[in-house]
Amino acid sequence: MAARRSSLSSLPQYSSIGSYTILYLDKKGHALCARCASKPGAEIVRESTYDEGPAIECDGCGKKIKSSYGVAVSARPVSKKR
Ligand SMILES: [Zn+2]
Repeated sequence: MAARRSSLSSLPQYSSIGSYTILYLDKKGHALCARCASKPGAEIVRESTYDEGPAIECDGCGKKIKSSYGVAVSARPVSKKR
């Protein structure tokens, strides 16, 4: 699905539902924050929520983009095995 553009020119950094972090990827595979993704000339080919993992530096401005849940939530043991 293509990025929806409303009359507002800037893209959201967080999803409207659940406030998940949204990460934008451009044609060159750069990870961009919403602000850089909104810049004219940015060729966004993919937008997706960034749910978990270490903070990523935006390739445009160097801003840290934090994942929604932080680092390695799924690595937490669900049940104790013995
Ligand atoms: Zn940026």
